[in-house]
Amino acid sequence: MLSKKIEEALNAQINAEFWSAYLYLSMSANFASMGYTGFANWFEVQFKEEQDHAMIFIKYIQSRGGKVTLSPITEVKSAWETPLAAFNDTLEHERKVTAMINNLYSLATEEKDYATQSMLKWFIDEQVEEEETAQEIIDNLNMIKDNGFGLYTLNKELGARTYTQASPLAAE
Ligand code: MG
Repeated sequence: MLSKKIEEALNAQINAEFWSAYLYLSMSANFASMGYTGFANWFEVQFKEEQDHAMIFIKYIQSRGGKVTLSPITEVKSAWETPLAAFNDTLEHERKVTAMINNLYSLATEEKDYATQSMLKWFIDEQVEEEETAQEIIDNLNMIKDNGFGLYTLNKELGARTYTQASPLAAE
């Protein structure tokens, strides 16, 4: 059985993952409306991945006999003038998510909940990747600055990103 404390913290994380999904869908829509179809695609894939993250927590709570509680998703920003502005927000947001995952892990350690610690390890690795990817794209955008051909090329590259289901879900 999950302790009440862990159950509450996991439910809060579900909300944070859906909020992330909402944020990236908003970024995707923003860039689609500007004609940046590649950036829009990248954020759409990101949106789907965040929904997977929420589902992993949902399935996990259920597998431990806990209760899933979905709370309202608060409003997200709806306009970014440049891809750089959106990726800076992305990195800042992912750092916050990393801190949340770390706090969850600390709580699971305090509560001696070894199964939750084990489940969270996938997320700890995932957050390293999320921050690294956002930083890499920011570095590219800083290199490109206002170079049209550079933006065209990166837009094309990010347009090639495809979605694959997160491995903890695919393993079911
Ligand atoms: Mg996530």
